[in-house]
Amino acid sequence: MRNPAAGLGFLRDYNEGLVLAIARGAAPFDRASVAAATGLTPQAVSKVLARLIKQGLIAPCGLKRQGAGKPATLYELLPTSRFAVGMHVARRTLRTVLTDLRGDIATSHVTPLPPDFTPRDLLDAMTGAVARLTRDRPQTAGRIAGVGIGMVGPLDHALGIVRDAHRLRHWHDVPLRERAQDALGLPVHLDKDVTAGVTAEAWRRGPAFDDAALIMVESGVGAGLWLDGRAHRGAHTNAGEFGHTVLQLDGPRCACGRHGCLEVLHDLAVADGDIPRAARILAAGVVNLVQAVDIGHVVLAGADLLQHHRTYRAAVTAGIETEVPRADWLTVEVTLSSLGADIIAAGAAMQILDASYGVPSPASAAHAAPVAQPAP
Ligand SMILES: [Zn+2]
Repeated sequence: MRNPAAGLGFLRDYNEGLVLAIARGAAPFDRASVAAATGLTPQAVSKVLARLIKQGLIAPCGLKRQGAGKPATLYELLPTSRFAVGMHVARRTLRTVLTDLRGDIATSHVTPLPPDFTPRDLLDAMTGAVARLTRDRPQTAGRIAGVGIGMVGPLDHALGIVRDAHRLRHWHDVPLRERAQDALGLPVHLDKDVTAGVTAEAWRRGPAFDDAALIMVESGVGAGLWLDGRAHRGAHTNAGEFGHTVLQLDGPRCACGRHGCLEVLHDLAVADGDIPRAARILAAGVVNLVQAVDIGHVVLAGADLLQHHRTYRAAVTAGIETEVPRADWLTVEVTLSSLGADIIAAGAAMQILDASYGVPSPASAAHAAPVAQPAP
């Protein structure tokens, strides 16, 4: 299939990423404010602005009068110059969102998946969702930068292979990224659902959100980690199997084969209808995580959690306040996800935007390569 993203042109320059990050803020900006925020010379800023205008990502939008001097040109982001598609593959549904370059969600749609769905079932659902989206929104033609997929793991983000999806029988070493690229004709980015989710929070909340965890409870328990200002994926890109950390050595057997995992204890409490206990079990795991990696923000997400968000948030807050030694000094902000049910799909779309139009880092450049060079 012809690749509709081939002519888009992705940023490969650190300074372009910096300027675009400023442009994503709501207000129009001028050359001097960019120079002050980035430390670049006004001449260097002018060159970057010219390149971004040429790519159609920003445009002049007016003049700023300043005393008796020459007025300064104001610029703004053109949010509909690029779009990204994000997908959340859950055990029963495929949720698809379309976001613009700012990361705002333009549309969201849910497709049911058959029980114990196969890779073919999923690819058919994905193709249908993208076809419907482009048919309903003709303005996206030729402007979709790619498709981000957030899926339950374990999976290898770097190779784009789903190793084994918990509780799905047909998902063993499936090269989903490559197969989706072939089916959709667009660059594809595959990541764990929780890592996509934490990226959504980070993209929206800015640089103050530097060490954080997204705790997700939805047909299982996972955690997306954002450490040192970027997604943390670990040695095998499989970080986040938070639900399979053990809380009780001689506890009940978990689907993963171990005994007393957080997930099995939590799910048994839910099955007993004891949500306060389920929330306390989750809180104990969160306290362990805070102790292990010293995070400053905990974001709670997932349909099963958000249904009882007051109970979960109160339990996690109380757990941190009473069980973390010196909680007066080690302050941790506990919030609910700002994007509700769309968070994973939106985050997957923002991963596409981040790889193509964010500030490049050595790690993201390595993982972004397949996005910029899709299968022909
Ligand atoms: Zn387990």
